Amino acid sequence: MGGQASHPEGVHVVVVGGGFGGVAAAQQLRSHGFSFTLIDMRDAFHHNVAALRAALQPGFAPRTFIPYAETFGENFVQGRVERVDPDRQMVVLQGGREIQYSHLILCTGTDGPFPGKFNTVASYHVAVQAYEDFIQQVQAADSVLVVGGGSTGVEMAAEIKTEYPDKKVLLIHSKAALADPDLLPCVRQQAKEVLLEKGVELLLGQKVSNLSELQLNVAQKNMIVSTDQGQTLTTDLIVCCTGLRVNTAAYASSLAGSMADNGALKVNQHLQVHGFSNIYAVGDCANVSEPKMAYHAGLHAAVAVSNISSSLSGKQLTSYHTGNITMLLAMGRDDGVGQFNGFKLPRFLVALGKSRDLLLWKSWREMKQQQPCTHTAPISEDQH
Ligand SMILES: Cc1cc2nc3c(=O)[nH]c(=O)nc-3n(C[C@H](O)[C@H](O)[C@H](O)COP(=O)(O)OP(=O)(O)OC[C@H]3O[C@@H](n4cnc5c(N)ncnc54)[C@H](O)[C@@H]3O)c2cc1C
Repeated sequence: MGGQASHPEGVHVVVVGGGFGGVAAAQQLRSHGFSFTLIDMRDAFHHNVAALRAALQPGFAPRTFIPYAETFGENFVQGRVERVDPDRQMVVLQGGREIQYSHLILCTGTDGPFPGKFNTVASYHVAVQAYEDFIQQVQAADSVLVVGGGSTGVEMAAEIKTEYPDKKVLLIHSKAALADPDLLPCVRQQAKEVLLEKGVELLLGQKVSNLSELQLNVAQKNMIVSTDQGQTLTTDLIVCCTGLRVNTAAYASSLAGSMADNGALKVNQHLQVHGFSNIYAVGDCANVSEPKMAYHAGLHAAVAVSNISSSLSGKQLTSYHTGNITMLLAMGRDDGVGQFNGFKLPRFLVALGKSRDLLLWKSWREMKQQQPCTHTAPISEDQH
């Protein structure tokens, strides 16, 4: 099944989705000299690793959106892909435009609640403004409830308490242990300790039972929140950090037979989508059993592009294997926890390596653009 690889002069690779995986794939394609098109529904790459700080620190958001066109020029097309037609080797955009591919890399990623993700199709300026508006809501609240104690919720609670130490911050999580289950237990425990040191209150082993009735991300005095254990509490602002879902709209109609139950695309060890030799899946939309991470999306992209190249020159394809987990959690800009290659790291190293800048420099450098200068408030002595 699937299309034959075209002769090299007919090779054109289409990348759908310009998140961490798609941008890495596009960069690799360019450095391998491929003809390619990168398609995203928005006009700017969203560095969602830094989205939580953009939601709290005035003036930070412009650093978290990097315009595609300045980097990729005519290789970038803005549009929403509605369908893939594997028989004709076409992607079909909203409005009917079709783009032919010899090879396709699907990197449509995941969506989830704002502010961790920004799901709206909006211009760079509207997107930045959405984060600035959210800051007003945080500033208007005396207390904030963070729902979900996975890695995003843990980072969110720590960021809020770091930027706004006087606000009451409560993190509610359905399980006893915080952060990602793939982290070492000692790292998860340390995340909990840092939150408590910062003054975050924890409600573990409980779920919010009336979440659907509550308004998220808008400050309202004394909203009443109930838990499944019969507890009632009040808060001025609710931020949800659960519920990522795979973006399947681009491929659900034509590749349904290759989709896992969660919507991700089943891939072989070469990251080729089941049933197709010329369609690859990269990043969060690839059904690889590992934590969903920007770091992994970049590794996938390198394997997919190398395999397109190898398949054209008759070389053996590369296999993707998840290594020991490396994961860093920014606990505000002054602290962090994490592990490298399976070993726990000292907090100051994570703070230096990730928390201060959230690796923004890396994406701006990769996209060969200058990061806008924005003011970052100094960390006061009593916040150390
Ligand atoms: C708050 C937060 C913090 C995180 N921190 C870290 C971290 O510190 N380190 C780490 O490694 N990972 C982190 N992650 C996870 C990381 O962000 C994801 O794993 C990563 O974004 C996955 O990249 P991706 O390219 O697969 O998809 P995404 O980044 O989700 O990008 C998908 C892109 O596809 C586009 N798209 C989707 N459907 C269509 C369509 N039909 N047509 C056109 N375009 C489409 C979207 O607009 C989007 O730009 C974090 C995630 C969150 C939410």
